[in-house]
Amino acid sequence: MICIECGRSVNDVYKEFGKSGSGNIRLTRCNNPNCLQIADKYVEYDFIIVFLDLFLHKPQAYRHLLFNRQPYRDFGIPIQYIKVLVVYIFFESYIKWLRLKENFDVHPKSAFLYYDWQDDVPYDRYWFIFLTAVAEFGIYVLSIMLLVRLIYSSRYAIIKYNYLVMSIILSSFGKGFLILMIIWDYPFSFNEILNLFVLSSNLIAIKVFLETTTFKAICFVNTMGKSSLTVTDIQRWYMARLKSKPILTKAVTSAALSLIGNIIAQKGIERRSIDWNRVLKFTVWGSISSPMVHFWHKILDVVTKNVPEKYKSWVKMIIDQLVFAPFINIAFYSFLAIADGKPNSILIKLYFDLIPTLKASWKVWPLAQYINFTFIPPQLQVLFGNIVGFLWGIYLTVLSSKKIKN
Ligand SMILES: [Zn+2]
Repeated sequence: MICIECGRSVNDVYKEFGKSGSGNIRLTRCNNPNCLQIADKYVEYDFIIVFLDLFLHKPQAYRHLLFNRQPYRDFGIPIQYIKVLVVYIFFESYIKWLRLKENFDVHPKSAFLYYDWQDDVPYDRYWFIFLTAVAEFGIYVLSIMLLVRLIYSSRYAIIKYNYLVMSIILSSFGKGFLILMIIWDYPFSFNEILNLFVLSSNLIAIKVFLETTTFKAICFVNTMGKSSLTVTDIQRWYMARLKSKPILTKAVTSAALSLIGNIIAQKGIERRSIDWNRVLKFTVWGSISSPMVHFWHKILDVVTKNVPEKYKSWVKMIIDQLVFAPFINIAFYSFLAIADGKPNSILIKLYFDLIPTLKASWKVWPLAQYINFTFIPPQLQVLFGNIVGFLWGIYLTVLSSKKIKN
């Protein structure tokens, strides 16, 4: 609990007397001699007043919602914040998609299916715009976190990054007004005005969080304008690489994802010092396996050449799971045995581990590959598989570390 006027911590914001639940409360005064005001006046206010003050950029409203509305947490972000964030991103990308359709007279047959993909970036697809918006938000938050770390690590012993992210999400509430654009036919310039509003709210929230000057807060928020450009640039650059050097690009991408995924699994989930030998093995495996997947998809294309279009994804998925899944798992265990310098242990390892591994992988890969073969443009199918593998690997680590704890 904090005093929303000065930001100092207080023991409580009100005291209840009489029977509990009787509603007899007395608001606590802040005991900071320079403040002495009521610590949190919003306790007695209607939510609509809090919201109005949020709208009017009052720092007190931000402090109230961030610090006094819910129990303090050392780690992580409450699920409500995540849900709200997903809704914002959904609105925002939907508006972008509508705008693209109107401005460029693009009329995709569907927002998701990909029939006519050649070799350009699928800018006009809803799912692509949505993912871009997710990436933009991620880069926005990461760049603010990085700046905070660079500038404030000497001043504060601990920086609560979860509260920083929460304050950014909370102050983006202006994006909720985008729903008005979807319901009524607002001009697209309304979006620009909202963006400015959200930016200035972000500014206040960061200012509250860091107790910093407006100028520094402006510097932090300024990174946003650039991040949107960067994501598009990265996409263009990546698609160009993918076209000119497909195998190398896929190998490097997969190696990078394996590297990051393995470090997250070890440091973030298993919570131990990093075993770099294991990281190296997984990274090398990532760079070997992706080219194999690349060629396998080419083989699949040839094999299913005469299959009617509507069955194609199904047939591809079934062959993939019955032929390639065992193959790639055997290759993986062989690689690990050789990398460990114990090539003789391959057969024993396969005897014990192959079937359980395959059973586990069949829980997720058939669906993932069906989606992959149906909705994802061919050039991005290996990448999609990498991302599923990345998430699946992290999920498996969470599972096994829970087992160890129990
Ligand atoms: Zn105070």
